[in-house]
Amino acid sequence: MTKQSPTIEQALEAFLAGHACVSEAEEVSLLHAMNRVLAEDIRAPFSVPSFPKSAMDGYAVRASEVAEATAAHPVVLRVIGERLAGESLPLTGNVEGQEADSVKCMDHGTALRIMTGAEVPPAYDAVVREEDTDYGETQVQIFRGVKQFQNYCAVGEDIREGDIVIPAGTRLGRIEIGTLASLGFAMVPVRRKLNIQIISTGTELVDVKVSSPLPSGKIYNSIAYMLEASLLSAGFEATHVICEDEEAAIQSAIENAMESAADIIITTGGVSVGKKDLLPAILQEIGADVRFQRAQIQPGTPTIGSVYHGIPILSLSGNPYAAVANFDYYFWPLAAKLTACDAYLPSVEEAILATPYEKVNASRRLLRAYVKQGKVFLPAKSHASSVLSNLMNCNCYLDLPAGTSVKPGDVVTIRRMPF
Ligand code: AMP
Ligand code: MG
Repeated sequence: MTKQSPTIEQALEAFLAGHACVSEAEEVSLLHAMNRVLAEDIRAPFSVPSFPKSAMDGYAVRASEVAEATAAHPVVLRVIGERLAGESLPLTGNVEGQEADSVKCMDHGTALRIMTGAEVPPAYDAVVREEDTDYGETQVQIFRGVKQFQNYCAVGEDIREGDIVIPAGTRLGRIEIGTLASLGFAMVPVRRKLNIQIISTGTELVDVKVSSPLPSGKIYNSIAYMLEASLLSAGFEATHVICEDEEAAIQSAIENAMESAADIIITTGGVSVGKKDLLPAILQEIGADVRFQRAQIQPGTPTIGSVYHGIPILSLSGNPYAAVANFDYYFWPLAAKLTACDAYLPSVEEAILATPYEKVNASRRLLRAYVKQGKVFLPAKSHASSVLSNLMNCNCYLDLPAGTSVKPGDVVTIRRMPF
């Protein structure tokens, strides 16, 4: 009895089983923390803002004293001074023979001319916009009442001291970087970068760096660059080597990757049933634990997921579309698991098909597609797994179940292309 091929969901589950999040962390400077995964919960060491501050240019007042103010019946207050953003507030005593602000503020019927961002003295509880005054310097007419805490940023309005602001496992983006900066973090604890090593197998492959013009019969190694670009933008380390279709060479490339501490090894090419498709035999030879092979999907049926001495090896087809579609399906959930960060999980959504697609496929398909505002388009003329460039107009895969016919207006499942 032949074993039934797994679905890609079953294949993925088998591939992911048993892997744990990397434990090592490092401190990096704030900007270098961009796109990295936070290693520890970040608690706010102080509140933001840490002092009450004015949200407007105007006059700090006691709201209760100006509640009735109108243009016809302004409230007049004595202006005790001026406070600009960044000026510190003397709290007690006399300054150069002058009454201290805190003392002056105690007087009822007073206001402090204040600029946006300046500290509001404790005696005041609201700010009147300068447009609602006569801009007075020694005394000011208030033309409109304010409520308590109006135009006033309270302590902790943004972040409260002691709260967990960013939990461990968050992938840091610009807002997290800005938030960390607001708390004065110059260094950030992040998980160490995953180290992904790509082994591009194929005697026909040439690296862009070495050969120009291209010798006949050769092709440039496009996949390694596509995957590496994706991995680098995700915040990981990635390198690649090219290997001829020779068993010993591929085997030693796998051993080299293991020795140089790969967290994940990706091989491309040689997974099918051709004369020089050596990966299935090599994985067996070295004793890798093959977790899935020949899953029910097109393209990428021959993709293999295995584990060798605890290190996952994802073996992709050499056809660029098959490689990237399967990489996106299997790699990112693995990356999410190894970093304990869900941000790497690609988004799966429902959308409305907008382009006719006549074909009914015998197997489940991942079709290159473009989604915008809930509508899915199929801009590619060719769906061949060897064609790469038309993916430039795509941002998702249409996940079409086997034997399904679809028409415009149908609700379909799409998988976003990450990174
Ligand atoms: P294979 O999976 O080895 O049977 O290769 C399938 C097709 O993909 C062949 O036409 C290869 O020449 C091509 N190919 C293999 N590896 C790469 C690569 N790294 N970049 C671009 N094309 C490749
Ligand atoms: Mg090949």
